[in-house]
Amino acid sequence: MKPEVFTGSFTQQEPIPEEAIAAAVAVMRHGRLHRYNTVAGETAEAAALEAEFAAFTGARFCLAVASGGYALGCALRACGLAAGDPVLTNAFTLAPVPGAIAAAGGRPVFVEIGPDLTLDFDDLAGKARATGARLLMLSHMRGHVCDMEALMDLCGDLGLQVIEDCAHTMGAAWNGVPSGRHGAIGCYSTQTYKHMNSGEGGLVVTDDEDLAARMILLSGSYMLYARHPAAPGEEVFRRLRLDIPNVSGRMDNLRAAVLRPQIAMLADRRARWAALYRRLEAGLAGIPGLRLIARPESEAYMGSSFQFLLPDWEPARIRAFLAGAVGRGVELKWFGADEPQAFTSRYPHWRYAGVQSCPATDRILAGLIDLRLPLTFSPEDAAQIARILRDEALRIGQAEAVAAVETPLIQ
Ligand SMILES: *Cc1c(COP(=O)(O)O)cnc(C)c1O
Repeated sequence: MKPEVFTGSFTQQEPIPEEAIAAAVAVMRHGRLHRYNTVAGETAEAAALEAEFAAFTGARFCLAVASGGYALGCALRACGLAAGDPVLTNAFTLAPVPGAIAAAGGRPVFVEIGPDLTLDFDDLAGKARATGARLLMLSHMRGHVCDMEALMDLCGDLGLQVIEDCAHTMGAAWNGVPSGRHGAIGCYSTQTYKHMNSGEGGLVVTDDEDLAARMILLSGSYMLYARHPAAPGEEVFRRLRLDIPNVSGRMDNLRAAVLRPQIAMLADRRARWAALYRRLEAGLAGIPGLRLIARPESEAYMGSSFQFLLPDWEPARIRAFLAGAVGRGVELKWFGADEPQAFTSRYPHWRYAGVQSCPATDRILAGLIDLRLPLTFSPEDAAQIARILRDEALRIGQAEAVAAVETPLIQ
């Protein structure tokens, strides 16, 4: 029998909903794409998006910005990051996170992760004390959330202010609290590969008046901050407006129009992602040498990607597994590769951050495999992907067993 091949595309997201297309076309028809370009009585799409996303997360304040990376940098500046300050962050994260820290003048300090891919609290405490850091940029990388109550307690003790990178947790929750609502500021991305799609874009939420006003001023509000519905009162801006530089990074009305109808779709997207995730998880269970990552009960996650571990596999063996899977249409990313590839790089590749050593993270990343689960996949697709990966993992084991038997015969 010919081995089955998966023919879906791992980078194909769903189309933009018709309602969002109509709203975007309306913005283009009137031409007022800039968020402050409104006629009398009009609420800009960007302003409406902020009010709606604040309501969705339960935050007092929200700001829409140009990208997720911009959101992170804006949050760091609002927290008063000064040149050369250390900023703690997960050793397992995506390049824009240390990039945002460096761009804001900070120095990324990488904190180890554990086998569940979340922050190692002992290493966090040790590095907070050793560096005197005041800020933690907490990256919920690939949607894996640490014990948030325990983390916030620890950060309170350590005097750390927490900024949450929720690029992979928009729409997720921890013990019923929306992701991004534990720390001082929650940052989200609306880039195509995340959970709401406007091509590029970002959002920040906070309950803190000063942080909100600083971020709005930073984003390039000029003296038009009163046009922000999800913002603190005028008096807060009056106090701060001459001290905060304009670091332009606003969102435009076109993207906001595309995003607004997607907020109400996040709950349904979470359910559909969960169905894909569980099918894949069930299909990969019990494969010798392959370890799944347990998800805590407290975590309501967005299953937009899937990770598993091949602990202690030799690099050559992993490469053979990846090649076998790709040959059958299953595109996998490997966080252990020597050379950074496409979106996948790891902390030693970010040379500007200086040489840092996180041996526990190195061991995990050496066997960490990652795949996307776009919503254009069906649960049957997820089941097929699992069958192919199971086949390929078993085939490698069998090939080795045969080689082990044959070798003495050759000698
Ligand atoms: C995508 C991403 C970002 C940055 O978002 P952009 O909108 O692409 O700037 C930040 N953190 C993580 C973990 C991401 O995946």
